[in-house]
Amino acid sequence: MFGTLSSLNRRLDKLEQELADRAWRAKLGTCNCSYVTIADSARPEEFEAEMTLRCPAHGFRHLGIIKRVFSYKPDHNVRRDSQLDRKFAEMMATYNARLDQANREVAHEPREN
Ligand SMILES: [Zn+2]
Repeated sequence: MFGTLSSLNRRLDKLEQELADRAWRAKLGTCNCSYVTIADSARPEEFEAEMTLRCPAHGFRHLGIIKRVFSYKPDHNVRRDSQLDRKFAEMMATYNARLDQANREVAHEPREN
């Protein structure tokens, strides 16, 4: 009797794990994280909008490598704006703080066997 119950529990555990794996794979199909994000210096609001999106699979949306691009002035020098530079620096600090928080939460999630 005990052996049968133990065997049933093992089969039930295996089935639960299989269902959890399927749910996880289905969730990953909805991932909208990026490997690379282009941040246009002239349009900080676009980057800010990217930062506020959530990933349906991971919660926090990873933006991957963030490349800030600049436009050129007619004299071929890069167009820089100290106000926009500060805005991007603030947004990057905010993003990095959120990324650190997301990484800490993942590190503290209980591991399943
Ligand atoms: Zn994702």
